[in-house]
Amino acid sequence: MPELIQAPRGTQDILPQEQKYWRFVERTVEKKLEQVGFGRIDTPLFEYPNIFLRTIGEATDIVQKELFSVERMGTRSATRKDLQEKTQYVLRPENTASIARAYLEQGMANWPQPVKLWYFGPMFRYDRPQKGRMRQFYQWGFEIFGDDNPATDAFVIMMVWNIFGALKLTKNLVVEINTLGDKTCRPKIKKNLSTYFEKYSDYLSEDARRQLKTNPLRILDSKDQKDQEILAGAPQIVDNVCETCKKNFQAVLEYLDELAIPYDLNPRLVRGLDYYIGTTFEVRQRQDTGRQSSLGGGGRYDELLTQLGGKATPGIGFAAGVERVIEALKQNQVKVPEIPGPQIYIIQIGETARRKALTAFERIQQMGYRVTSAFSKEALKAQLRAADRAGARLALLIGQREAFDNAVIVKDLAEGSQETVKLDRLDKVLKRKLKK
Ligand code: AMP
Repeated sequence: MPELIQAPRGTQDILPQEQKYWRFVERTVEKKLEQVGFGRIDTPLFEYPNIFLRTIGEATDIVQKELFSVERMGTRSATRKDLQEKTQYVLRPENTASIARAYLEQGMANWPQPVKLWYFGPMFRYDRPQKGRMRQFYQWGFEIFGDDNPATDAFVIMMVWNIFGALKLTKNLVVEINTLGDKTCRPKIKKNLSTYFEKYSDYLSEDARRQLKTNPLRILDSKDQKDQEILAGAPQIVDNVCETCKKNFQAVLEYLDELAIPYDLNPRLVRGLDYYIGTTFEVRQRQDTGRQSSLGGGGRYDELLTQLGGKATPGIGFAAGVERVIEALKQNQVKVPEIPGPQIYIIQIGETARRKALTAFERIQQMGYRVTSAFSKEALKAQLRAADRAGARLALLIGQREAFDNAVIVKDLAEGSQETVKLDRLDKVLKRKLKK
């Protein structure tokens, strides 16, 4: 393909025949979350870089390798000064930091707490494209600000489970859960891990050695064979958390037991974004062991608002990848509602008829029917075939004669019957035929 007719690597066109999956996911999420008090929020697709640098973490892959920068065409690449002067933007790699920014900027702290928000939209990460990993991908998710009760942690997981249930996917899913400690115990957890990994630093992978300096927690997530062996003996986070974290985590697990939501404790679960503390969880497909098996993840981020310069406010949320959810729908052969095609196809033969056809078209769409036509087609046969292919129930034929008589032939494509109907009676006949 010549370059000009190629979409960028790691992006895709979502064609009409795919839209039923997208609509199913978006509407299911909307219905479930709005039923329990969430309001939709849409934030800009690009933000000032600091929003992400300060929260996701300067040392994370997302910030170090995956941010797309946005600048006005023709300017040189950004310097520190540009960042300060706010002439440089980045495409959002995720939505939580943007929504936290909006919470502060829009004075949501003065709204009745907790503030519950949901979203659906594209995110951008300069990842290495592969199955389940794209550079532009969609996420649906939700956030709750201003509530630090462990019952809310369980509520979030309950809603996630509920939504995946409505998407008919829970059969093969499992929630993996862990606690990451909070600002009291996290330093000690990191220190214990560092001390342990230092002993083996010569044997760690290159990535792990780098993470040892920046965030030793991330090593726990390593899939590298060399690291795996060392990981087996690493101190566990749960054993090192403070009393409050332990108590909260225990409470969350008890709520989940009560709700009969299946979960696996995964003491090595850490996430790729530094703002997570306390309860952290991921939704995975059971049969899949590869890296792309995670459909979504979330957890607490009680420090995020202070990282942005706001007043300390607890927060918790979840995000899932829409492309991966849709892939799972297809793999599990979940039946999703079809997007309805046209009910009526208007066929015209000859110039006079075409003029009448256009008026009839306008009247019929005003009546509220789904109607279509191809005005450049001339032959009856071609138009009938098109009507059939479009899945229309009725074909309305207007020829020279019908145009002259102010009538149409109503052909029932399902029954194969047809009748000639005066235009002033068309409304009644359509109602009868289409049972509207
Ligand atoms: P995260 O925001 O990294 O916690 O990711 C949450 C979910 O978003 C993941 O479980 C994936 O389903 C999805 N996701 C993250 N990165 C990508 C990507 N590059 N391409 C497709 N989906 C992604």
